[in-house]
Amino acid sequence: MALRFFNTYSRKLENFAPRDPGSRNVSIYTCGPTVYSRAHIGNFRAYIFEDLLQRHLELRGYKVHRVMNITDVDDKTIRGACDAKVSLSKFTEPFKQAFFEDIKTLRIKRADEFPAATDQRYIDRMIEMIGVLIARGLGYQAEDKSVYFRINKFPNYGKLAHFDLTQLQSTGRVKHDEYDKEHIGDFALWKAWDEEDGDVGWESPWGRGRPGWHIECSAMATALLGDRIDIHCGGVDNIFPHHEAEIAQSEGVTGKQFVRMWLHCAHLLVDGQKMSKSLGNFYTIPDVLTKGYTGREIRYALMRVHYRVPLNFTWEGMKEARESLGRIDDWLQRLREIAGDELDKSKIDNHFGHEFGDALDDDLNISAALGFLFETIRETNRAMDRNKLDAATAAGWLNWWNRINEVLDFESGTRHFWFRPLEVTRSFDSSDALPEEVSKLAEERMQARLAKDFRKSDELRDQLNALGWEARDTKDGQKITRRVGV
Ligand code: AMP
Ligand code: ZN
Repeated sequence: MALRFFNTYSRKLENFAPRDPGSRNVSIYTCGPTVYSRAHIGNFRAYIFEDLLQRHLELRGYKVHRVMNITDVDDKTIRGACDAKVSLSKFTEPFKQAFFEDIKTLRIKRADEFPAATDQRYIDRMIEMIGVLIARGLGYQAEDKSVYFRINKFPNYGKLAHFDLTQLQSTGRVKHDEYDKEHIGDFALWKAWDEEDGDVGWESPWGRGRPGWHIECSAMATALLGDRIDIHCGGVDNIFPHHEAEIAQSEGVTGKQFVRMWLHCAHLLVDGQKMSKSLGNFYTIPDVLTKGYTGREIRYALMRVHYRVPLNFTWEGMKEARESLGRIDDWLQRLREIAGDELDKSKIDNHFGHEFGDALDDDLNISAALGFLFETIRETNRAMDRNKLDAATAAGWLNWWNRINEVLDFESGTRHFWFRPLEVTRSFDSSDALPEEVSKLAEERMQARLAKDFRKSDELRDQLNALGWEARDTKDGQKITRRVGV
């Protein structure tokens, strides 16, 4: 099947091809965090979807150049700095660092570039673009000294959001006299300085001020990726006005089609409502880690549902993520035991499990791809139960796993230690030693379970947990695993 994605602009599934025919280079721009607080896991749903997109394109042999901006100047960051009585950069810096920490925890590939809006290079570009828009009649300075985009002069305005401008005029929700704009939908390109901005501001031909959020992205995207970009992503809340405005500004300056394909992910919900800072119904990554979950478990929970389907966040869902990953871990362990030396010898066999990649080709249908993975696990486990899976086949599936794990990045990266009745403690990797204290607790726990003293066994599990080790009871005995990402 051809690789295809749902393009928000056309509202259709379209076959994907890079803008330069024959080229394997793909440019992607993704709207990054506004660093006025720590990002919540809703934001990370968007970043995980973008990570899946990049990794799948790479699996298909494309070379991806991805840019993710950091919005480090806007109303919220200025207000935050002012309340904290520190400079803007001092205020945003810890949130930038926290963001990089969190993407590492979730194994999200770093973008090639993370431009920050306050970088003078991009401020210069924003000013240059605004100058061109004014010269073309697409921008104007109003009485309040701010500069606005004249949406009536850009006939395609509203095409991305499939928005009827006459509706915008008729709602009357925003009082006209609060604004000095010609049209209620005109948006700020340059906001004139006022007292609330404190020492935040840059000189421009229109006086001291700061850029609007939308022009920040247009400037950084075109500066780093050129006038035409293959794919632009974000959450659905970015469609209007942010991405609509990005199109108007960028195309208003370059006269070229800004983006070939627009991909937007649905929201992460809590009790049916969007997870957001303003509703206060959010969790950060450290919040979820504190509950004992790991980065890869959060990664799984945020990735497992198709990106265009709203995903409800629940603790039950986190438990399911843990169980699903546990099944993958156990399966890999079994395959490795059977494959033995075959693993190194066997060649990569592309006939194994093409269904996984096919599902992702179809607009990143991860639910179908994971469905295939778990069906494979079920079938191969059944064969292993009956001693019907030979070493070469086990090695073939492991090679397949290594390939798809380039996309999923779900592997635990840690070894397990089994505690089985009548069996000596066994480690699969001597470099990953089991501390004596942990070994002693695990041994005691195995004895407690044999004696059916479940209260004691639960206590011992908690003690192991506190030391950073997870105890799981499987039909093959007790499995002790170092927790990752904590
Ligand atoms: P912000 O920091 O608010 O500009 O958002 C950064 C990214 O996270 C944008 O792509 C948003 O669309 C996305 N986003 C915000 N909230 C959610 C949510 N609850 N679910 C999914 N994506 C979200
Ligand atoms: Zn943006």
